[in-house]
Amino acid sequence: WARLREGLARSSNSIGSGLIAIFTKRKLDESMLDDLEDVLIRADLGVATAARIAKIVGKGRYDRNVEVDEVKAILAAEVERVLSPYARPLEIDAEKKPYVILVVGVNGSGKTTTIGKIAAKFSAEGRRVLLAAGDTFRAAAIEQLMIWGQRLHCPVISREQGADASALAFDAIKAAQERGDDVVLMDTAGRLQNRTELMAELEKIIRVMKKVDATAPHAVLLVLDATVGQNAMSQVEIFGRVAGVTGLVMTKLDGTARGGILVAIADKFQLPVHFIGIGETADDLEAFTARDFARAIAG
Ligand code: GDP
Repeated sequence: WARLREGLARSSNSIGSGLIAIFTKRKLDESMLDDLEDVLIRADLGVATAARIAKIVGKGRYDRNVEVDEVKAILAAEVERVLSPYARPLEIDAEKKPYVILVVGVNGSGKTTTIGKIAAKFSAEGRRVLLAAGDTFRAAAIEQLMIWGQRLHCPVISREQGADASALAFDAIKAAQERGDDVVLMDTAGRLQNRTELMAELEKIIRVMKKVDATAPHAVLLVLDATVGQNAMSQVEIFGRVAGVTGLVMTKLDGTARGGILVAIADKFQLPVHFIGIGETADDLEAFTARDFARAIAG
C-alpha cells in the first residue's frame, strides 16, 4: 500500500497537489468548490462523486479557512464509502472442482501477469492450480505463462500460436478434472481492435466450457490497467456485455495517479473489486481494501 500511495502521489496532477493549490489560506467560496470538483474529475473519480464531495466540503464551511487535511479526510471517507460494498475477496467454491476462472481484458492490461500472481497466491494456500494459455494470438503470452507454470510448479495447458482458444478451454477443464485440480486459470486474447472477433471468441470459449462443466466459468475476472484512465469505463462495458464479468482486478497502480477511475466504475457498474496489482512480481498483488485505497487516493 505504501507503493500504491507513492504511485498515486507521483504525478504532478495528483489529487494531493491539486488540493494544496486550492485550499491554502483562503476563505471557502463557490469557485474553490468548482476547482475542487475539477481536480476530482480530472483524477477520474466521476462527475457524480466529484459533485457529492464538493457538496459535503461546502456544507457549513463557507467563509472560513478550510484545511487541506480536512478536505482529504472528507474525500477519503467518501471514496471509502463508495468502494466498501465492492471490496470483496475472490472466493473459491470448493464444491466446484475445478473452479474455473476466465481472465479477460485488453492486451497489455496485465492479464498474464495477474494470472501468474493469483496462481502463486493459490499455490501458497495449498490449492492445485492449472493454467490455460488461452491468449493463443501472442506467442509471447504462451511463453510467459509457461514460465509462471515452471516457477510455480503448475501444469500449463497450451497449444500452438493461432490455435482455437475454445478447444484449449475444453482440454484444460478436462485435464483439471482428471488430475483433481482445484482451480483453472484461463488466459485470453484481448484484441479490442477487432470487437466482433473478440466477442465471438469469448462467447465460444464460454459455450465450450459449459460442455465440460455446465456451471463454468465460475468467475470471469476483468483486468484493467489503471493508467488508461477513462478508457477503463468502456472496457468494463464491453467485456461485461460479452463475457459476463463477475469481478475486477486493477493493475499498475504502482505507477500512476489515475486510480480514481475505480470509484467511477464502482459507482456505475457495481462490480466487486478483488485485487490490485502494484508491480510485476508474484508478490505484487494485494487483496483490495476500500480504506487503504481511499487513503492512498486522498494522499
Ligand atoms: P496481457 O497482455 O494483458 O497479458 O498483459 P501482461 O501480463 O503481458 O502485462 C503487460 C505488461 O504490464 C508487462 O510488462 C507486465 O510486467 C506489466 N504489468 C502487469 N501488471 C503490472 C502491475 O501491477 N504493475 C506494473 N508496474 N506492471 C505490471
